[in-house]
Amino acid sequence: MKLYSDFRSDTVTQPTEEMRRALMEAEVGDDVLGDDPTVQKLEDLAASLMGKEAGLYVPSGTMGNSIAVKMWTRELEEVIVEEKSHIYNMESTHMTFISRVTPRPLPSERGALAPEIIRKNVRLPSVHTPRTSLICLENTHNNWGGAVLPLETFVETRKIADEFGLKVHLDGARIFNASQASGVPVKDYAKYCDSVMFCLSKGLSSPVGSMLVSDRQTIDYARRFRKALGGGMRQAGILAACGIISLTKMVARLKEDHLRAKRLAQAIYDLPGITLKPVDVQTNIIVLYFNHPKLTIPEFLDKLKENGILALSVFGGIRLVTHKDVDDEDVGRAIKAFKAILTV
Ligand SMILES: *Cc1c(COP(=O)(O)O)cnc(C)c1O
Repeated sequence: MKLYSDFRSDTVTQPTEEMRRALMEAEVGDDVLGDDPTVQKLEDLAASLMGKEAGLYVPSGTMGNSIAVKMWTRELEEVIVEEKSHIYNMESTHMTFISRVTPRPLPSERGALAPEIIRKNVRLPSVHTPRTSLICLENTHNNWGGAVLPLETFVETRKIADEFGLKVHLDGARIFNASQASGVPVKDYAKYCDSVMFCLSKGLSSPVGSMLVSDRQTIDYARRFRKALGGGMRQAGILAACGIISLTKMVARLKEDHLRAKRLAQAIYDLPGITLKPVDVQTNIIVLYFNHPKLTIPEFLDKLKENGILALSVFGGIRLVTHKDVDDEDVGRAIKAFKAILTV
């Protein structure tokens, strides 16, 4: 058996054999000069899957989101974000650092911002206040335990955006997980958004990279920001070859991750110290709350590790993520470890 069953994140996924072969054979060029055919193929594929005109390959999701915020805002403006969102909490505050705009974090129902809350917080410019220019959504919502946003949230957000002349950006790091769980095609989420970022390097198992998609003119502009941020990569087709496999071969299997997360949640939710509703586990992320008379979260994580299980503490909770490189045996091992530690 392997040393650890790693439930910390779906970013730990190893590239597949097929990816390793594809990258060896990839036709490459200098992508900053615009002549890497494999990167271009990936960018076109990403755009067409999302129903957008153009795509941009970026080294990380954080860079994709940073570029999107920069594209849609100017200084003295404000961005509406969900209060537990990744873009607001976990990206080293690029909004203030790169775009020089203020985030306006709003409460939600499991990641879904209510239209009346958005509407109340849209600010028109005055000498005292910034102008709201952008609304960011996140689907699936990481810190809400992989929650899938209802399509209605997209419809309503778009209406408000059009009414006030705002842009909508989707942090769709795990948009394919959302689509696999809800049955809503990714295009149907994307059509309500001006830009979408999604990750290849998580459940889709690529070693590196994310995509930003939007209209052609915006992506041309985004390409300049990517260069300015140091994200221009030369023979990046080596990596993009893996991305193409992510999008053509790795999407459908995300359902297996969702089933494993459900199985794990159902087996551990009623153990002492754990607060977790299995119905809230819609995709591949479990966020549980832990309050045990004898164990703190760090002590519990240490004990899990002694039992071969790696998990992370986030937002005062514990996060467990299923992905290609944890199978049924790993899930069984985790269930056994949870029971052994918590039922003494
Ligand atoms: C991982 C993640 C990102 C950023 O991706 P990196 O490639 O790690 O920079 C953005 N948003 C969400 C919701 C994520 O889970």
